[in-house]
Amino acid sequence: MTLTTHALVGAAAAQLFPSYPYVAFVAAFASHFAIDALPHWDYTILSSEKDLRNPLNNDMRLGKLFFIDLLRIGSDALLGIVLSVIIFAYGIFHAPLVIVLIGALGGIVPDPLQFVYFKTHTILLEALQRFHIWIQKGKTLRVHPAIGIFLQVTLVLAVVAIEKIVLH
Ligand SMILES: [Zn+2]
Repeated sequence: MTLTTHALVGAAAAQLFPSYPYVAFVAAFASHFAIDALPHWDYTILSSEKDLRNPLNNDMRLGKLFFIDLLRIGSDALLGIVLSVIIFAYGIFHAPLVIVLIGALGGIVPDPLQFVYFKTHTILLEALQRFHIWIQKGKTLRVHPAIGIFLQVTLVLAVVAIEKIVLH
């Protein structure tokens, strides 16, 4: 999933707990894995190095391509945070801004944690990394990017519509 989708669904999950920031964070963090479990398209990570025999050895090679990845991933995350604030704090819903930010960041953060695992192989993150690999195993949709993005927009719209109906 794109980080834009993760941020938006994370904010949607967090706003269900507007008075409990820690619960809101956990809900957003959990939402990351819930939607990674759905078949989904992803843009290519240019610096990605995959070990097909042991995905725990996957990595990102530092260099020029990594820099381009960083710009793309950073823009993706920023778009997600901005859209989350617009939709959940000021637009369709009126959740507290801090809860929306906690939600967007909680929805995004499992992916940067994968990068931390790539570079440290810390035992602290190994179980999470195994779970992250397992939950999206075989879920990659090899479709045209326009279709992939369309499906993710549809997912976000469905989540927003359901919450709009349930919360009002
Ligand atoms: Zn993920």
